[in-house]
Amino acid sequence: MITTSSFKTTKSEEIFAAAQKLMPGGVSSPVRAFKSVGGQPIVFDRVKGAYVWDVDGNQYIDYVGTWGPAICGHAHPEVLAALHDALEKGTSFGAPSALENVLASMVIEAVPSIEMVRFVNSGTEACMAVIRLMRAFTGRDKIIKFSGCYHGHADMLLVQAGSGVATLGLPDSPGVPKSATANTLTAPYNDLEAVKSLLAANPNEIAGVILEPVVGNSGFIPPDVGFLEGLRVLTHEYGALLVFDEVMTGFRIAYGGAQEKFGVTPDLTTLGKVIGGGLPVGAYGGRKDIMSLVAPAGPMYQAGTLSGNPLAMTAGIKTLELLQRPGTYEQLDRITKKLSEGLLQIAQEATGGYISAMFGLFFTGETVRNYEDAKKSDLAKFSRFHRGMLERGIYLAPSQFEAGFTSLAHTDEDIDRTLAAAREVLSN
Ligand SMILES: *Cc1c(COP(=O)(O)O)cnc(C)c1O
Repeated sequence: MITTSSFKTTKSEEIFAAAQKLMPGGVSSPVRAFKSVGGQPIVFDRVKGAYVWDVDGNQYIDYVGTWGPAICGHAHPEVLAALHDALEKGTSFGAPSALENVLASMVIEAVPSIEMVRFVNSGTEACMAVIRLMRAFTGRDKIIKFSGCYHGHADMLLVQAGSGVATLGLPDSPGVPKSATANTLTAPYNDLEAVKSLLAANPNEIAGVILEPVVGNSGFIPPDVGFLEGLRVLTHEYGALLVFDEVMTGFRIAYGGAQEKFGVTPDLTTLGKVIGGGLPVGAYGGRKDIMSLVAPAGPMYQAGTLSGNPLAMTAGIKTLELLQRPGTYEQLDRITKKLSEGLLQIAQEATGGYISAMFGLFFTGETVRNYEDAKKSDLAKFSRFHRGMLERGIYLAPSQFEAGFTSLAHTDEDIDRTLAAAREVLSN
């Protein structure tokens, strides 16, 4: 591997060294550390369009997109302008605002399963609340999740949870009581028979099944043909709810998310990332009869001081408006196809794919259908690839177990430069 001698990260190293004394691991979220690829994280200074700049002045083409929200490109001028206007009216109301109606209407219009929605501040919060709601509605306590699917860091969902948990090799986390996960059953992704067995073995006890309809948190893993449809049939059969965690896929793999793309409508859906346009927003929604249980309409308690925050609503509304413009998803598909097919041509013994603005590459010759398969990929090779790309100005997620993201700001030239870098790195 050739390292580029001009690549300097002195300031990043200084700032990160100081950060490590101030915050655990020097980061505010573990996935930002470079634990699994080695080396130190790059400290960002600013972001714009498809690019990010670090504190040493290096520029990168970015395929992390702040982990999903930046689908229109970072710091989109129209989002910034809308935020400037909203800022003049104050940063938080703690009371109803018309902005919530606007974003709620847009979400309800877009996402087939959502008839009513509740805004929260993160994907984690949305998933925590939706589990409570599943249990409140069905009067059942058990839930089924899939290994390698991440639904935020709430206790009952921190079981075989992919993403940062996978990266750090923690099957679980200390501090999560056994009682908290006792009602969480897990099945391998893309394994309908396993789900059927769990449902059959726990009659009238399973509140529902939650999943990433396209997995992004064990790397990119699409559902097998018939998997989502099969879950829909099985959950109906056993009186359980079906929940799509579309925190990552919502407004990314199609405007209406995976449920629009695959034509399977769950009972409930969680959202986050893109709907906040880069500000903290999560949401859960679904059938009106179920959502009517949420306080104050119903007895299921869930609240938030900053929920429905006017700045966050504004960024979300503008981002969705940009996504509604004609040709958006065709453009995302075209650019991501070019990147994904290009990478697969260059990388020998790699497998992967893409859907719309989400892609993945595993360093394994075998097809990856679930987290077990994903774990067979060559992590050392991925680390070398990651480092080589970083030194050539390409910023990829620092883990084999994360999906990549493109945006409307990525150009053909950006993709060409990325593929040229990959050719250089992988030929050594
Ligand atoms: C990111 C993510 C979450 C958690 O969202 P946060 O905003 O990080 O709390 C939940 N589910 C999925 C599928 C995610 O990708």
